[in-house]
Amino acid sequence: MYSYEKLLLENKAWAAEKKSDDPEYFERLARLQTPEFLWIGCSDSRVPANEITGTQPGEIFVHRNVANLVVNTDVNLLAVLDFAVTHLKIKHVIVCGHYGCGGIKAATTRSDYKPVLNMWLRHVKDVMRLHREELGKIENEEQRDDRLVELNVQEQVNNLAKTTIIQRCWKKETRPDLHGWVYGLKDGIIKPVYEMKAGTPIDPLYKFEDL
Ligand SMILES: [Zn+2]
Repeated sequence: MYSYEKLLLENKAWAAEKKSDDPEYFERLARLQTPEFLWIGCSDSRVPANEITGTQPGEIFVHRNVANLVVNTDVNLLAVLDFAVTHLKIKHVIVCGHYGCGGIKAATTRSDYKPVLNMWLRHVKDVMRLHREELGKIENEEQRDDRLVELNVQEQVNNLAKTTIIQRCWKKETRPDLHGWVYGLKDGIIKPVYEMKAGTPIDPLYKFEDL
């Protein structure tokens, strides 16, 4: 059996178990999704949003990319954000990074990862430049990388607040709250590191006045 065939086999077993526990399960989920959360996480296979939060299908709307970045020219992310905020009316956006992130680690090196990854990781280098002073004081490399993971999450939450999608929603409603979390690969625990409640004042440079 090929490795991917096992996935299809496991899927059949999973579907049968769900249906035997709750015969209406799929019909109900197929009718609509009303998730309360948008999860912007790292693509790392060790950080599955539903599993580590004990949530079920239908509860979290998910976008994942390398190093959980919020890039304001990323049409993919912006479409997910717009759909989640404007149409699904989600209440919380969670940016969840993780300690030991390969993308973050790669950005701290001076290696050439070839054009596309270099482009992507540049955004993490920008976070390093913004927080150069604080990071420069941390001598231990692992601790410095861990702090960079936290600061990266913080900056991605700030990036969310800079979008018209979030600002327009904040102007009309008291949602969504923005959360920055970091997951520990070594202990499985999520640590909240940053938060912006709906309506939190932002740097005027990024504020749109005529929304
Ligand atoms: Zn990662």
